[in-house]
Amino acid sequence: MVDRSKVSHLNNFDPNEPYLVFRGRITEMHSITTGRSVRLEATFCDGTGSMTLVWFQGINWIKDYIKPNIIYNVMGKPTMFGSTLQIAHPDIEAAPASDQALPHAFLPVYHSTEKAKAKGITTKAIARMTENLLAVMPPYLPETLPQNIIAKYHLMGRTQALRNMHYPETIELWQQAVYREKFEELFYHQLDFQYSRTSRLRSSIGRIFGVVGEKFNQFYNTKLPFPLTGAQKRVIKEIRADMRSGRQMNRLLQGDVGSGKTLVALMTILIALDNNCQACLMAPTEILATQHFLNFQKMLDGLDIRVELLVGSIKASQKRKIKQQLAEGQIDILIGTHALIEKDVIFKQLGYVVIDEQHRFGVEQRAKLWAKAVVPPHILVMTATPIPRTLAMTLYADLDCSIIDELPPGRQPIQTTHGTDAHRLLLFNFMRQQIELGRQVYVVYPLINESEKSDLKDLMDGYESLSRSFPMPQYQLSIVHGQMPAEAKAYEMDRFKRGETNIMVSTTVIEVGVDVPNATVMVIENAERFGLSQLHQLRGRVGRGGGQSYCILMTKDELSRTSQQRIQTMCATTDGFAIAEADLKLRGPGDLQGLQQSGMLEMKLADLVDDEPLVCATRDEIHAILEIDPELQLPENQMLLQHISINKLLPHWDKIS
Ligand code: ADP
Ligand code: MG
Repeated sequence: MVDRSKVSHLNNFDPNEPYLVFRGRITEMHSITTGRSVRLEATFCDGTGSMTLVWFQGINWIKDYIKPNIIYNVMGKPTMFGSTLQIAHPDIEAAPASDQALPHAFLPVYHSTEKAKAKGITTKAIARMTENLLAVMPPYLPETLPQNIIAKYHLMGRTQALRNMHYPETIELWQQAVYREKFEELFYHQLDFQYSRTSRLRSSIGRIFGVVGEKFNQFYNTKLPFPLTGAQKRVIKEIRADMRSGRQMNRLLQGDVGSGKTLVALMTILIALDNNCQACLMAPTEILATQHFLNFQKMLDGLDIRVELLVGSIKASQKRKIKQQLAEGQIDILIGTHALIEKDVIFKQLGYVVIDEQHRFGVEQRAKLWAKAVVPPHILVMTATPIPRTLAMTLYADLDCSIIDELPPGRQPIQTTHGTDAHRLLLFNFMRQQIELGRQVYVVYPLINESEKSDLKDLMDGYESLSRSFPMPQYQLSIVHGQMPAEAKAYEMDRFKRGETNIMVSTTVIEVGVDVPNATVMVIENAERFGLSQLHQLRGRVGRGGGQSYCILMTKDELSRTSQQRIQTMCATTDGFAIAEADLKLRGPGDLQGLQQSGMLEMKLADLVDDEPLVCATRDEIHAILEIDPELQLPENQMLLQHISINKLLPHWDKIS
């Protein structure tokens, strides 16, 4: 929005403003030919200074249009070109005789791209279109928000809002118009999700897991390796209540890295088994699935429970056997990757689905798993990426939430430091000291794009140089990256896990979930290339065994401002939620790790960071409406009912079965 009544002066204007208005005369104009290209340059003076206006296109038209001794409004953003100010392709119009005669006090500014501009779709052209459209618009458009809501929140009416979005009389009116439009956007977003959730709750039947039986109790009494934390107990209780309710559970379990989500998954899976159901656990990578599998086998050792692993890399004959036994009900717990979603994976009696590190899975994949049972299974979605409050409200409005907000006792906060190449000798010495103490070290390289050769080269060079500084046989190194065969990866992971190697050099394949308590040092190379959440995930690989752990963020010497802020945030806090908030502020919701593909965060106007109060208000309002009128039957809610775009993303069981 530009205030056309606010004219800037060339000797004193705000260079940060994207669009300014100047008023003055064109004192000189000439064409310049260089090679085959011609441009038109004009000198513009406003009495306080002068600047050059440049046109590369439409030259003849401009030459005709511009007359001497007429006052023009010239609009755009001046930039320094050499020692003179200039605007290329400014918006230009003859200034009216007096300010009062201006057609609109404000001139709208629209987003345009270089490409669109080249085709004549400039902000001014768009403004002409909206102006024309508004002129032919009927005086009153049908309202799209219920009257009671408009009254309650003092919102501007729709027609008025549309006009004032583009051509307001005052800034206040413009703000009110934008407020109303944002309100409407968030309001209906919340309605879609919350309605979908409440109608699912109402219509969905769920298996009733009435008993906590032998398997759970046996594990609890004889196998539990440590007392549960208070938060783990609370979450298990919440899940038990859902499982008994007769409705399908859809629960999101948030817990920072290392908070002990796996144990919650295991124990609630035992409840499902106690109620004669099968369960499955889906993880985003083979390494992680394999690790869960080994972990479950170890923890359930001696109990009469059959756990199997289904991942892409196992032999076809073995796969066939597993699928058959699964269908016959001989397998109790199936752990795997995306392989679990394949059509021919059929359970005899699937009652419970746990999805680990959910941000890696799209909503559609979730839905596919759900469709594997006649009666919908209970669903637990676990994520270690703390999601800022507003995002959780928006993104997971259809899920119930549990939070593990307590780490197992005895964990010392991880010490994080920042280093550059100048510190490399110190770093190597420190690694040697830790290895001498019997500890293990991760060295991680970014591999943003698995197919990018230069990334892999970084890793290989790093490995070479580490091999020289940490020679065999005194030191043993492991290396793991995405292009290795799954078996080789598993083998190397295993050696590291058993403590046979001292240093694990890897790409981010180890990012999620890998659990080696004896590892106490995490070195992250080219740390400036990682996002905050990812750094936090990586750091979470250490500090799991109770020993003091360290994270060293290695970067090049010169960092951009955001990189600097990211590194500083990491050094200052280990609180996952604080980091997620910072990430959201630095990068915006669209870039948050794993959320990109969700497509659910693409608000047209609302900003999930800045508009948090509005997000909360609309959420609470919808909640209150659905509490009183869950099926939207009351007359005042008819508009809402019509507005629901039957949720495209989440399956409704009544429709599937
Ligand atoms: P995450 O939530 O990141 O998945 P894990 O489930 O991998 O965390 O647990 C991290 C580590 O903490 C594991 O080594 C696990 O054995 C241990 N752990 C889990 N619960 C407890 C507890 N109540 N007391 C002590 N250690 C625990
Ligand atoms: Mg985990």
